Amino acid sequence: MGYQQPLLYISTEQLRLNAHRFMAAMPKVRPHFAVKSNPDRRVLEVFREEGVHFEIASREELAILLDMRVAPDSIFYSNPIKPEDYIRYAASRGVRWFAVDSVAEVEKLHRLAPKSSLYLRISVSNRGSAWPLEGKFGVIGREAEAVMDACLQWGMDLAGVTFHVGSQCLNPDNWVQGIRAAQRVFSAMRQRGFRPRLLNLGGGFPVQMSAEVPPISQIGALINAELANQDNGFTVIAEPGRNLVASAGCLVTRVIGTAIRKGQRWLYLDTGIYGGLMEFNERFRYPVVSDRAGEMVSWTLAGPTCDSLDVCLRDQLLPASLQSGDLLYLPFTGAYTSSCATRFNGFPPPMVVVVS
Ligand SMILES: *Cc1c(COP(=O)(O)O)cnc(C)c1O
Repeated sequence: MGYQQPLLYISTEQLRLNAHRFMAAMPKVRPHFAVKSNPDRRVLEVFREEGVHFEIASREELAILLDMRVAPDSIFYSNPIKPEDYIRYAASRGVRWFAVDSVAEVEKLHRLAPKSSLYLRISVSNRGSAWPLEGKFGVIGREAEAVMDACLQWGMDLAGVTFHVGSQCLNPDNWVQGIRAAQRVFSAMRQRGFRPRLLNLGGGFPVQMSAEVPPISQIGALINAELANQDNGFTVIAEPGRNLVASAGCLVTRVIGTAIRKGQRWLYLDTGIYGGLMEFNERFRYPVVSDRAGEMVSWTLAGPTCDSLDVCLRDQLLPASLQSGDLLYLPFTGAYTSSCATRFNGFPPPMVVVVS
């Protein structure tokens, strides 16, 4: 069978290994896989077999899990801002855990899912993360108190706290600070008569592409030490996406053309920013592997679309002999590639191929 379109190979063996590593690093933390990082049903099935639970961002992600007969009351709906019809759908199917970080969202949930249990998304430091998320979500101080008061006013069960340290977080202290901030918020909840019992550590656990990235065992040891102060009655969960799935993926892309522009070599691929390599840039530095050998030179890597935004990477060292038709292999690309791909300009997104 000839090469037709970009391929994302996913190794189920590596998925299982990643799940085991995560659980071994933090035995008291229950992982809920962030479905958005790779919603392929075959990936979700493997995690379910390994005892991993799930976290969702939308109705469509929930529908896949319901079709797989995942227990709805084990699913965490952690997107802090949810369309009303999604909330209604989730509640009618038995989902009961929802994140909130605004008074208006508490009001919606009071109206559409009054029996649900809520967890407050607080804002924490995202220092040292490749993809900071702070600013868009999370509250603290007075604004957090206003959300707690709204829960009280509308009689909602405010049961926990969550945070997100930013994706590909290389600074494990962010989790330590997040846990301490959560414990302060638990006190404020108790003062209002709530009974907090859930600590959700969110995602951000990095994929270990190079020696600078702390291994999950090291991050886990710090988190475990911090959790030693947490009351026993608490459920502690985390929402790893990238850490569970990135290293299980290898994207295969084809060179469709080369050019020299102002003395610089350009390599055009059949996938790019719009086709799954949204995260491919100097900040991230995924390894790029080719079948050719010989003199290494600096290339600029670009996607196939006509958009000038579609330039992935500058100054990538690759063999000078690369030419149209050659394949490139991009390991560590199991997360946020196929799930972010569009059909912009009519180029097909990567096809996911699951291997054992
Ligand atoms: C995206 C996201 C995650 C997963 O983040 P990773 O960096 O892939 O681990 C977890 N929880 C929430 C709420 C998210 O938005």
